[in-house]
Amino acid sequence: MPRLLLLLSAVIALAAPLGAQGRTIKLGDLGLTLSRPSGYTAVPLPPRMEYTVLQLVEGGGSPEGEVSPTLLVHVVVRPVTGVRRGKIVDTKTFLDRFIRPRASKSLRGGAQRYGHKPKRFEIEWEDEGLAYKSFVHGWEGPWRTVIVQGVASPADYDQHRRRWQQVAETMKLENPREDGERAKLERFYAQHRFGDVEYRIDVRLALVDGWKAKDTEHYIILYNESNAGFVDRVGSDLESLRRDLERDLPSEHRSENAATVRLCRDRAEYLAYGGMKTALGYFSPAEEELVLYQQEQSEGADETFQTLYHEAFHQYVYTSAGHLAPHSWFDEGMGEYYAGARLERGRVDSIELLPNSLGFIQYKVARGEHAPLSELIAMEQADYYADAQLHYTQGWSFVYFLRTSSEVRRKGSWAKILPTYFSTLKETHSRELGESTSGVQRVLAGQVARQEALAAAFAGVDLRQLEIAWVRYVQGLKN
Ligand SMILES: [Zn+2]
Repeated sequence: MPRLLLLLSAVIALAAPLGAQGRTIKLGDLGLTLSRPSGYTAVPLPPRMEYTVLQLVEGGGSPEGEVSPTLLVHVVVRPVTGVRRGKIVDTKTFLDRFIRPRASKSLRGGAQRYGHKPKRFEIEWEDEGLAYKSFVHGWEGPWRTVIVQGVASPADYDQHRRRWQQVAETMKLENPREDGERAKLERFYAQHRFGDVEYRIDVRLALVDGWKAKDTEHYIILYNESNAGFVDRVGSDLESLRRDLERDLPSEHRSENAATVRLCRDRAEYLAYGGMKTALGYFSPAEEELVLYQQEQSEGADETFQTLYHEAFHQYVYTSAGHLAPHSWFDEGMGEYYAGARLERGRVDSIELLPNSLGFIQYKVARGEHAPLSELIAMEQADYYADAQLHYTQGWSFVYFLRTSSEVRRKGSWAKILPTYFSTLKETHSRELGESTSGVQRVLAGQVARQEALAAAFAGVDLRQLEIAWVRYVQGLKN
């Protein structure tokens, strides 16, 4: 549910200069120590990588549509007993399974080290119109295979290959060690009054080097070399907005979990992490993580914070509705409404109009090219995205109308639409779900909850009349 780059063109930030990162990388919980090739930066891995444990990218990333020279480390653990069919145990199976190279050549592997035998390959493949060439060095040990993989475009390959090989040949392969980090963090949190301490500790232990974490009451904010002023403002704005969200959309079973927010250093790092190209940030329901980057230009600051507020709304609603996304008009419309928040001295001072969105929807309304309200409110996400610019601006202006029009305030059946939608959604969902944890039950409960929420919200409402009032209101708004 990203906030789309409506009417904006993406700003492509080139890689920022390297910060002071050490040359030696220790993955203590895996017993691996390796040296970082000069010019390479650790980039966080996209969530839920099963085998990949480290990603080093030259310069931290490159413009879109190019292959950044990258060094990856994958770890495959051998099953303790027997070998199940299809289980990955060696370098070759790993490559065949995940890369399916077009060409593969086995190379001489050098000497055995730390009880691990070397296996080396040079492979080539294509993906989405880009050509890749890769040097692969697997260390096949008694209980695991550790794979060092360098990737670049065929043109850059020769320039990087020696460095990758050196990393593979000099890496230390020891048994995992319990380190004192966890105990240290436990002592740190014992002195502070944050909830969800176990989660906060796990998140901090998983940070790759260069990344830091900042705790606030409801959030844990992860950031990489961002300037301190930016991180502080994100933290304080999130807490301020949250107070408004809790007031506007109260939820009895409020989550005690710390919400995770990741601030990438720039667009290159954001894309390397798996960020969507069409957005400045996004909320991932699967990871319950809000991901954002700071735009380089100072005039991009507004869009960065609008995106933050929009995605923070998604994050709040998703967790407080019991891990359920509302209908798109509500989810995106409210998200855009809060994107207009103006914060002053630790509180939401006002909610402003979004000038670009207003201009666009006024243009559409004047030509009668908007979606009928009866269709808009029932749209599933795919339909909503199909004409994203129209539906985002229409949903936003509809929510803005419901929240700010005095005509709505005077009419009880209109004024109740937003609060009734949200309360019915979460009550029906928790009733339908009961104690069940099954995925199918979750989907069914979600469907019922959304239907009932829509029916209850618009009960007794003449949609044609409401649409006419909304159109009139939109036409009267001034940028
Ligand atoms: Zn959104």
